[in-house]
Amino acid sequence: MANKNLMSANLELEKMSMVDGLTNISNRRYFDSFLGKLWDINMREKFPITLIMIDIDRFKVFNDTYGHLAGDQCLKDIAHMIDKTVTRSGDFVARFSGEEFAVLLSNTNEDSAMKLAERIRAKIEETAIKVCGTETSVTVSLGVASMITSKHMGPDDLIHAADCALYKAKDDGRNRVVGASSLPEPV
Ligand code: GH3
Ligand code: MG
Ligand code: MG
Repeated sequence: MANKNLMSANLELEKMSMVDGLTNISNRRYFDSFLGKLWDINMREKFPITLIMIDIDRFKVFNDTYGHLAGDQCLKDIAHMIDKTVTRSGDFVARFSGEEFAVLLSNTNEDSAMKLAERIRAKIEETAIKVCGTETSVTVSLGVASMITSKHMGPDDLIHAADCALYKAKDDGRNRVVGASSLPEPV
């Protein structure tokens, strides 16, 4: 009996170490280990891995306007919307950091991922967020990058490429999707 209790306590602890406490989706630690494993598998298979980075637009203003508890609820709502929109088995959704989320897609190229990213963007834009007895809406900016794994590249290169695309989406006016392949090559 004591052994069984210990085992279930251990399982619970393991789960807690992988799940984000606020939003209940996978956390950054799990994302890092998932991407590392996916990378190693794809070194042999040579399928593309695609990352969609999602950042809530002007979220500081949301917090300043409605308060941090409403901000927390908004993060939960957005996490839920992303999770509901990403449905293919093997796809992976995580809270990357504060108001940033990441979606990992295996064996998916940038073109298909751009379509999914656009669905996520539209879903969030059109969904009412209940806050302080009223309703509002938020938007997100998304950066999409796809890579075939190689010895010369690592998971950080994929994150960096998706980040660059995300920054371009912010620069271009927010509430939009940008693909890394549309950016100029670094010199
Ligand atoms: P941008 O459109 O450029 O992304 O603007 P932004 O305001 O979203 O970006 P900025 O990085 O200035 O602010 C991010 C905000 O996200 C500030 C921080 O308080 C908020 N935030 C991060 N994590 C949490 C959280 O767990 N709960 C709440 N309520 N807010 C959070
Ligand atoms: Mg951010
Ligand atoms: Mg933001």
